[in-house]
Amino acid sequence: MSSNNDQPDGDVSRRDFLKGAGVASVVGVTGATIAEQGLNNLELVDDPIGSYPYRDWEDLYREEWDWDSISRSTHSVNCTGSCSWQVYVKNGQVWREQQANDYPRFDENLPDPSPRGCNKGACFSDYVDADQRVKYPLRRTGERGEGQWERISWDRALTEIAEHVIDEVTEGRYDAISGFTPIPAMSPVSFASGTRLINLLGGVSHSFYDWYSDLPPGQPITWGHQTDNAESADWYNADYIIAWGSNINVTRIPDAKYFLDAQYNGTKRVGVFTDYSQTAIHTDEWLSPNPGTDTALALGMARTIVDEGLYDEAHVKEQSDMPLLVREDTGKFLRASEVPGLGADVENPEKVMVMQDGDGEPRIAPASLGDRADKYDPSKSIELDFDPQLAVEEEVTTTDGQVPVRSVWVNLREELSNYTPEYVAEETGVGERTHRKIAREFAESDAAKIIHGKGVNDWYHNDLGNRAIQLLTTLTGHIGRNGTGVDHYVGQEKIWTFNGWKNLSFPTGSVRGVPTTLWTYFHAGILNNTDEQTRSMIQESVNEGWMPVYPEERGDGFRPDPSTMFVWRGNFFNQAKGNVAIEENLWPKLDLVVDINFRLDSTALYSDIVLPAASHYEKTDLNMTDMHTYVHPFTPAVEPLGEAKTDWQIFRELAAKIQDLAERRDIDPIDDRKFDREIDLQSLEDDYVRDWLTEEGEGDGALADDEAAAEFILEHSTESNPDDGGEITFADTVEQPQRFEAAGDHWTSDIEEGEAYAPWKDFVQDKEPWPTFTGRQQYYIDHDWFLELDEQLPTHKRPPEQQDQQEYPLRYNTPHGRYAIHSTWRDNEKLLRLNRGEPVVFIHPDDAQRRGIEDGDRVEIYNDLSEIEAIAKVYPSADPGTVQLPFGWEKYQFPNRENFNSLVPMYMKPTQLVQYPEDSGEHLHFFPNFWGPTGVNSDVRCDVRPKEGGDN
Ligand code: SF4
Repeated sequence: MSSNNDQPDGDVSRRDFLKGAGVASVVGVTGATIAEQGLNNLELVDDPIGSYPYRDWEDLYREEWDWDSISRSTHSVNCTGSCSWQVYVKNGQVWREQQANDYPRFDENLPDPSPRGCNKGACFSDYVDADQRVKYPLRRTGERGEGQWERISWDRALTEIAEHVIDEVTEGRYDAISGFTPIPAMSPVSFASGTRLINLLGGVSHSFYDWYSDLPPGQPITWGHQTDNAESADWYNADYIIAWGSNINVTRIPDAKYFLDAQYNGTKRVGVFTDYSQTAIHTDEWLSPNPGTDTALALGMARTIVDEGLYDEAHVKEQSDMPLLVREDTGKFLRASEVPGLGADVENPEKVMVMQDGDGEPRIAPASLGDRADKYDPSKSIELDFDPQLAVEEEVTTTDGQVPVRSVWVNLREELSNYTPEYVAEETGVGERTHRKIAREFAESDAAKIIHGKGVNDWYHNDLGNRAIQLLTTLTGHIGRNGTGVDHYVGQEKIWTFNGWKNLSFPTGSVRGVPTTLWTYFHAGILNNTDEQTRSMIQESVNEGWMPVYPEERGDGFRPDPSTMFVWRGNFFNQAKGNVAIEENLWPKLDLVVDINFRLDSTALYSDIVLPAASHYEKTDLNMTDMHTYVHPFTPAVEPLGEAKTDWQIFRELAAKIQDLAERRDIDPIDDRKFDREIDLQSLEDDYVRDWLTEEGEGDGALADDEAAAEFILEHSTESNPDDGGEITFADTVEQPQRFEAAGDHWTSDIEEGEAYAPWKDFVQDKEPWPTFTGRQQYYIDHDWFLELDEQLPTHKRPPEQQDQQEYPLRYNTPHGRYAIHSTWRDNEKLLRLNRGEPVVFIHPDDAQRRGIEDGDRVEIYNDLSEIEAIAKVYPSADPGTVQLPFGWEKYQFPNRENFNSLVPMYMKPTQLVQYPEDSGEHLHFFPNFWGPTGVNSDVRCDVRPKEGGDN
């Protein structure tokens, strides 16, 4: 290397360069100069960088770090991430985003919560001005899906919608008006905007958590709760983690650090995945059960824990239903009312279960439903003042005479006796020694947890799978403490700021909620497309009023079709399982489909009117998740593009238009058929912007804009405004993400400073009754239908299959993808470049070779419902016999508009349609997103063939 002193003399400065060929060899390795080498055709020039004419582009890089303003925002895409971002704006354009780095720490022993983010969020700025944006109100001029539109004014769009809605309401068909929007936690103001209007109109609000098969039905069945999870920081507190079908490294990117860093804390991590997933590669041991056999694997592990005495006896006796007695003649729990002399001191002995103490005397199970006035009562305790026997098998004297009984424990042991190591190995493909070793290690850890993913939930028998996996934590007592439990992270079931959100969304308190799976499949014709047993059970559930379907049956027995659907913040049509039936049967019933969207997705394409919504960087809202305990905001970095408006603005203006037209027509209030209320269209906007929780008059006009709605949520929620703590305001969230101060009644533990949130402490540590029939973690369900289907206890059943195995030898699976969150970003250029740019199907090399398919070939995936086209990715990590097509691709990204859901039939499991107890339903009753049938999609078969004339 030369110093400055080595520069040649003369006119040539030290920045002069040589122009011409061979610049790099100006001085050769021998040290000979150019002249000496005879390269006389080279000439010295001035600094080429300085004189190069095309240099403006360099400013792009220099000015990347230059901006006019920074706003705090995030993404509302049902990712559960809830990551705070700084959005940089220059010259009125969103220039880029950067992860915020200011989540306050609450426990220095845990990894820093900052930053959070993923590859998708890192390029949301692409969407702000993207071609896919809807800039103006559009009205369909061709057939649905044809893509023929005309631009119309806001006034015209709102007038047409308002006139249609007024007709429906005045004709009494308000319950034919539906509103579908998912996941309030990701943007509760936007969620509430349309839900509030639908509620005021007497319309129908749709569930989403069960429809997406995110709800784990086993949790309400066993724990009486929708779901409750530890925040992801608690993973770091575990000594042992089983990632069971949860592909954390793909679907929980902002939280993966806790899983990855836990290894430095000495945590053993086991993966249960059918394929060698992106998370499996980071685990200490990988178990690969055959598809649909998770239940058998879990029950085999449970058998090991029980047989080898590795269970936590004290926990099982106090916290579970294992000591309860069951009549062998009926299969029902023995009730205190059936045992002479027992139950005199309880309010309703017919709903009180019975145990047997060490002396063989029958004792009531404290805090059974009948011991707490048939309701949840935290003042009651499940703590026992006697030591019940676990293993009871004998005859007892009852009001019906001598009756043989057995404890749940004995019944469970009999069930588990089926899961011999040989059977488990044969059924699941996981070796005898392997599954028993993992069971022992799990049981013997101080704090062990299971991270439960969607891989288990997508099966028809998902409830059995959930219950079997939950059983492992109950048997071992790995529940109700930090570092333990079943953390089920699939979708976002609930919202921290529940009370504020609920009152904003449903101001009247009279809600027509509907289980979306039932509503959708009912109107898409499932009664004519399922087996007789399922058909009659669906009908019975509806007739009994266990599950509602709207529009309601009228007095004359006539049930109208749904007529109107509003979709916002979701892509209902594209993401709907049973897609063929929905397109053919449900969609034509709808006279008006209105989609409110920032991009033209498939639902928009198949709608009648599309209204342009503000994107995530153009609006005000809140954002939270059960993966952490913070709240942070959306704030508008730029004005909405074109004529776009925020969801709150749009629905408020629609309310104003309806009110205006109703006033002009002098439409009288209409009596609601079901609730004690009137639907008053002449006061619709006034009611929309009124704060219903303040005194009459004082709240008028209070909720005029998005920020006022956000403040309303924070003010009226325990988590952000606890009785004994400081209030979190919207301005606080803009300043920095705020950790919640407390947990409301819909959570099962408190939020404590210095501690990650972990659920179930109210029951395990404080001994409150679990909100189940028995007041305990309940593995035995004595509902008639469970008994009839032989599912009173968790048991392994083979998946039902509507397609013939010989004809369609491959399983078909549609997991979450790495380059999109559901359908969002599926059309993003940057992310398309990171994968193959169009729908891809992953196929094992053996399956591909057998079919003459090579990597990159265009193929058809088909079954008796449809056929779809994709590019084959020959993937050695795939599970042989299963093809995977990561879901979320838009219908219009498939050549024939048949998408990944076109191969999926309509499935509905009868055990998820029940009310329990049958007469009153305190344990299981329909509640949106809490209890209802799930829309499953893994029990599908197909085959794959090269596309004729494709790019082979
Ligand atoms: S898309 Fe979701 S996970 Fe990704 S950065 Fe945004 S909020 Fe986080």
